[in-house]
Formats: sequence, C-alpha cells, structure tokens
Amino acid sequence: MIEIEKEIQYVKGVGPHKAKLISKLDIKTIKDILFYFPKRYEDRRSIGKIVDLNINEYNIILGTVHSGSNTRSGRFTPRYELLVGDGSGFIKCVWYNQNFLKRVFKKGQRVLLAGKLKLKYRDMFFENPEYEIIDKDDDEYLHIGRITPIYSLTAGVTPKLFRRLVHNVIKEFVEGVTEYFPGKFLKENDLINLRDAIRNIHFPPNDIYFFSLLRARTKSQKRMIFDEFFFVQLGLAILKKNKIKIKKTKKFNKKGKQLKELRANLPFTLTSAQEHVIQEIFDDMLNSTPMNRLLQGDVGSGKTVVAVFTCVLAIQSGYQVAFMAPTEILASQHLKTITELCEPLGIKVLSLEGGLTGKKRDKYLEKISSGAYNLIIGTHSLIQEDVKFNNLGLIIIDEQHRFGVIQRLNLMDKSNYPEVIVMTATPIPRSYALVVYGDMDYSVLDELPPGRPETKTYVRDSNALDKIYKFIKEHIKEGEQAFFVYPLVDESEKLKLKDATNMFQYLSEKVFKDFKLGLIHGKMKKEEKDEIMAQFKSKELDILISTTVIEVGIDIPNATIMLIEHAERFGLAQLHQLRGRIGRGYKKSYCILVQHKRGTEDAQQRLKAMEETHDGFKIAEIDLEIRGPGEYSGIKQSGHPVFTIANLIRDFNLLKKARKAAFKMVNEDDFFSNKDYAGIRKELRNRWTDNAFLVNVV
Ligand code: ADP
Ligand code: MG
Repeated sequence: MIEIEKEIQYVKGVGPHKAKLISKLDIKTIKDILFYFPKRYEDRRSIGKIVDLNINEYNIILGTVHSGSNTRSGRFTPRYELLVGDGSGFIKCVWYNQNFLKRVFKKGQRVLLAGKLKLKYRDMFFENPEYEIIDKDDDEYLHIGRITPIYSLTAGVTPKLFRRLVHNVIKEFVEGVTEYFPGKFLKENDLINLRDAIRNIHFPPNDIYFFSLLRARTKSQKRMIFDEFFFVQLGLAILKKNKIKIKKTKKFNKKGKQLKELRANLPFTLTSAQEHVIQEIFDDMLNSTPMNRLLQGDVGSGKTVVAVFTCVLAIQSGYQVAFMAPTEILASQHLKTITELCEPLGIKVLSLEGGLTGKKRDKYLEKISSGAYNLIIGTHSLIQEDVKFNNLGLIIIDEQHRFGVIQRLNLMDKSNYPEVIVMTATPIPRSYALVVYGDMDYSVLDELPPGRPETKTYVRDSNALDKIYKFIKEHIKEGEQAFFVYPLVDESEKLKLKDATNMFQYLSEKVFKDFKLGLIHGKMKKEEKDEIMAQFKSKELDILISTTVIEVGIDIPNATIMLIEHAERFGLAQLHQLRGRIGRGYKKSYCILVQHKRGTEDAQQRLKAMEETHDGFKIAEIDLEIRGPGEYSGIKQSGHPVFTIANLIRDFNLLKKARKAAFKMVNEDDFFSNKDYAGIRKELRNRWTDNAFLVNVV
C-alpha cells in the first residue's frame, strides 16, 4: 500500500482517540488530510494592537488573559466575559451560552482573538470572537505571523492541533502524492503540479497577494478547483460517449400522416424558437445514437407543444411514450392538453394516477404493457418497478429539476435506450446545467409566443391588503380571474402564518361575498382537485385560493392576478413559477407579493429581483448567487456531485475550461487506452468510489 492511503492513526501524534474525533470530518486516511482544504484564511502576518481596534470591523489581536467570569443578570442569556490585555490596552470579549469557556482560559495564557468589535449598551467588546490559545512553543510560526489556514473542525479538534497535524503530514507524506496529470496536460491547461498546490493551499507563502487568496485565484487554489470540476466532467463525458457508442435499434420516421395533422390542427402558429427546437430534436431522433437532451425554456415559452410533436413522431413510428410530470395536478392538465391534441390523430392517451391500487391498478398496468395505449402520462408512479412498457421509445420528463442523474438513469432502464428529453420547469443557470445535466445535449426556447401581455410585479406590506382587495374586485368585475397563494394548508400552532383553508372561509364570507371562490391544496383528493381546476378553467370560479400546489405548469390564460401572501417565505424559483401562472392570455397581468414581516436580507433581495426582472434565466442566476451553490435546488440531494472547494458561480470559467479538457480527452485522445492517462483513470475511480454520482461509469 502507498503510504498516503494509510489510516491517520499511523501518523505520529495521532492515536486511536484523536483519529476517531478527526474521522467525524470524513477524514480517514493521510491522503484525506492532504485534500482537506481550509475553509478560509486569516491574514496574521501583522497583528493589530488593542489601542488601534476599530468598531464594527474584523480585527485580530494577540493578548494575555487577565481575568474571566460567567455573568448572568436577570432574564438575560448567560454569558462568559474575558478580559485580555496586550500592553497597549485591555479589551473585553463576550460569548453567550458558552459557560464551559471558564475551563478553557487561564490567567496568563496568550490568546489570539479574531472577530468583530461591537459597541453596545455603551460598552465596547468582541462579540463571540474566534479564539486560539497560543502557547510559546516551537510551532508558533504555524499559527501567527503568517497567512493562517482556518479549517472547519469538530468538537475536540482544536485549530492548533489540526494545523499542526496538516503541517506534519505535508512534511512527511506529500512526496507520496503522485501527480496524475501528464506534464503536457499541466502546461496546456496552465496548472501547477499537485504537490506544490497541496503545500501552498494549506500554508500559503507569506508573499502571496492576500486578496487573490480570498477570491480563490491563487495558482494552488485554481489547480484544486480545476481538478474537482475535471473529474466530474470526465465522468459525464464518458457517460455521454458510452451512449453515443450505442447503436440505436429504434427507427423514427418523420414522414407520416399524424405529424401533418397535428400541425394542421394547432390553434396557433409555432414560434421560430419552437420550430428550431423541434427540428433539433427530430434530427437527433433520426440519427444513429439515442437522444439524451435537456430542453430549457422560460415559464410559458411553450415547451409542452414541443414535447407533443416529439411524442407524435415516436408514436407514428410505432413506439410507446412515457410522459412524467412532477405533480398530479400538472399530470391532469397535461392529460387534458395532450388528449385534445392527440386524440383527433387516433392516438390513445392514458394517465397512470399515483393513488391507484389493487385490481384497478392491475388493469391499468395491463393496458400499458399490452401496448393498447400509445402515450402514458403520470408522476413518479411511472418509475415504479412493476410498470412495464410496451416498446417504449421515448421518455419525456417534465420536471422541476428534482431528479438527479441516477434517477434519470433508472427510468431509462425501463427500456432498451429510449430517447430522453428532460424539460426544466424553471430555467436553471448554465453553470449548474453543465454539472447536473452535463452528459446531455441542450436545446433552449429563447422566445415567448407573441402577444403575451405585460405582467407588472409589486411588493407590498400587509397593511395595503384592503386596497389590494379593492383593486382585485375591479378586475374580476371585468371578467378576469385571480390566484391567491398562501404558505400553509391549515392553521398551524407553531407558525403564525395565514393558511389557505381559513383564508378561503374568511374571504368568501367577508371580503369577496359577491364573488365565487374555490379552494385547492395538496391534501385534497385527486378528483376534488380536478373538479376545482375544471371549475376555475371554465370561469365558474373567480378566485382560486391555494397553496403552492398550483406552482408548476398550470395554464389558465384568463387569470390575470397572482396574489402571494407571506411572499418573504418563498424561494425565488418558486415565486417565478407562481408568477408564470398569469400573463398567459391577452390582458395585462399583475403579480402582487405581500410581505407580512420584513424578511431576512436574502428575502428582500429575492423580492427585489422579482420586481426588477421577468427573465427566468436571469432570476435563476440571481437565485444561485443568493443561496450559494450548496443550497441551490438541493444540489446536495442524491445523484448530484458535491464540491468541496470549487464554486459554481465564482469558478464558472474554470468549469468551462475543465469541461473542455475532459471532453477532449475522452472524445479525441483515446482516454481508455492511452498510457499517459493511467494515473487519471485511477484517480477517476478513486474519486467516484465515495460518490453515488456516476459510480457505474468507471
Ligand atoms: P411552459 O413552457 O411553461 O410549459 P406551456 O407549454 O404550458 O409553457 O405553454 C404556455 C401557453 O402558451 C399554453 O397556453 C400554450 O397553449 C401556449 N402556446 C404555446 N405555444 C404557443 C404559440 N406558438 N403561440 C401561441 N400560444 C402558444
Ligand atoms: Mg410546462
């Protein structure tokens, strides 16, 4: 075994006890330590004096403990106070709810403090600063007088201990790290070698430009970020190449009566974007390898009809089609639209509802497996194991980017390499698409159907509700309809929020007595939901009171008003989706976002973005930026790769570079046989064994 694959308890100074603590950080081997990068850095090259401290700024000082005590007065939170001096003066530090600190600090200790200096209650102090006790021992130079790495750690592992460990491990073992990239590759991609990158990423040289370190632009950071992206893209490139290698047995035929009829029956003319994308998809289906394509388009851009063209091509060529929607309501709506377009062509459409059981369900499964039906619509119900298709040729997934790569592969297992189209309900940023859908080809509908009315968006406080209701009444009297959305179905003890059920009652009895209101939410039975949606569609109802069940895809062109209460609690993609329910007809529409409490700063940013732009792609970028890549759309959920140092927004250019290099290697350079790439092949396997994503590729 190579030394760096050894467990860490064999490192000098790390016994079983420490090894166990450290394993909580997901560190098992020596190599894991080398690749456990700092979460940030602190510039401790020169440390300030207490007399020079600035209020509200981030300060670092080095002082000696003078005294410490737990204090608690009345109903205030217990706090621990520490007084520290450095010869130039004294400063107080305060921590809340951390009484154990009295056992940490001792008089006379040297302590490094870093944090914001606060001025509160006419008192000046460091509030919850980070601290490190710095004894006068040999390795002081690791902690102060330098740019110091700060790691995310766990209880029992102090910053000093860990830094010392990393330092020792680098000294003793870094030579055991093998560079997996050939020299030529490093040069072409302007990368430094792996060992230097590891050394410097942990302990940056003191002459480095600190600002570029903060922005992750030093050569060592760039090298490690590149590597993270590269191995994900390499996996995707192989996945894609493997599919391309498969010779398609299915044959699609563009010439046929049904496609012609579909076109002739359409109630509108296709936009040129729709024409273009349909052409792209058809070309792909007629060529010799199975299609695997992502279709993006903003809310309302008309993705459904593009999907229907694709379905009809498959069906007239003799194949069955599976159409998967994220919710039951949307599946019902698809059933309706698709049936309207397809039935006149003699196509038989079936909906496999999620709630079916027993004999009834068996009957449905039989209808599917016998091939009696051409087009099967459903939700997750379609991926259940006992659903067997008959000559399945095409899968359409109308999703909310909820599914990861793995789930997609599972559905594809239902048939021998069917054609696949994934449609995103809300646009997603290009950077994210390159990672999560990086193995797919890409089509985009970048144009809305003509004549779409303007939609105005307003953010209002709850005290404006009376006025808002009055405004809405005026519009309803003109024959328009409105959606009202609330965050809860029923009253909640814990959350003081308005709920759809009570608001339905209140508004029906009090505010909108002379109007017809309906209620819909996820707890209702499917038949009830269908009934209500049908009533709203046929204008029997003026206002639909609802939860976010109407979020995705619902198409009621006569609705012109979207009122969302507690808008501060909704995510940006969600708000954009909800707003996408209006502005689909011919009249000017209004989206009114009511906030009941000033939300967090993030919430304010979200609402502002909604007011300022309607462009779904822009909104997706802003969303990614506000939330950060980790939180964005559950990227951490199963099936998505997780990055430790790379950042999808900050490092987008490196992502593109790594992708290009990876795809070139797989498609042009005999990746699997070239002996210069043996190291890369090995590293690829190493990286994927711990990761659910793409394990079956290598
Ligand atoms: P999304 O892309 O959000 O899924 P839909 O497919 O639901 O959008 O289409 C939104 C609305 O636009 C539907 O009412 C649909 O009938 C209509 N539509 C689609 N294409 C066109 C077009 N070319 N001209 C006019 N209306 C269209
Ligand atoms: Mg849709």
